[in-house]
Amino acid sequence: MTRAQDLQARFHTKYIPEPNSGCWLWTAALSHKGYGVLRYVGRWARAHRVSWKILRGPIPNGLHVCHKCDNRLCVNPDHLFLGTNDDNVADMIEKGRHLAGRRFGEQNATAKLTASKVAEIRRSRTIRSSRSLAREFGISHTTILRIWTGQYWPEPAGDTHAGMSTADVGERAAVPEVADTMPPIPGFLRRERAAVRP
Ligand SMILES: [Zn+2]
Repeated sequence: MTRAQDLQARFHTKYIPEPNSGCWLWTAALSHKGYGVLRYVGRWARAHRVSWKILRGPIPNGLHVCHKCDNRLCVNPDHLFLGTNDDNVADMIEKGRHLAGRRFGEQNATAKLTASKVAEIRRSRTIRSSRSLAREFGISHTTILRIWTGQYWPEPAGDTHAGMSTADVGERAAVPEVADTMPPIPGFLRRERAAVRP
């Protein structure tokens, strides 16, 4: 078996297709940024890039393999596209507008930022670099990126959806009058069963 064939064979044992989203979820090692990785010729390779090379073809110099599905664990080539770094960041920001998950608000005990500072950071997105803003506000560059992508701070409308996914928010909004009479745990289990029904 050649190295390439060996890589291909190992790649296909390390993910599970997820039927609802179509994502192929990586089940082996992860990088510190949350991407799937696997060893190849003594080095760690990112699994979604390996997926692209095996199943689609070469990655031209200067291009990145980006996720359409916003799931770093996913290695389904149909959920990947080649883009520039600018495409990648624009895509993240676009998705951030639609995602309500993993947010913290001003009441968070560790927050160094107020809503007005966050608003200023948002307004500065097109004219300032994330690193210069990070220095000015005394927070990490990653936090700036998360504010820009909507991961950390809510839109000005409020923080009522903190910690919920978009799906949770939609579900609760759709059945407000039922929510009071339905015990939460059985309701949750019913939805879980409905979700796994083939
Ligand atoms: Zn996916």
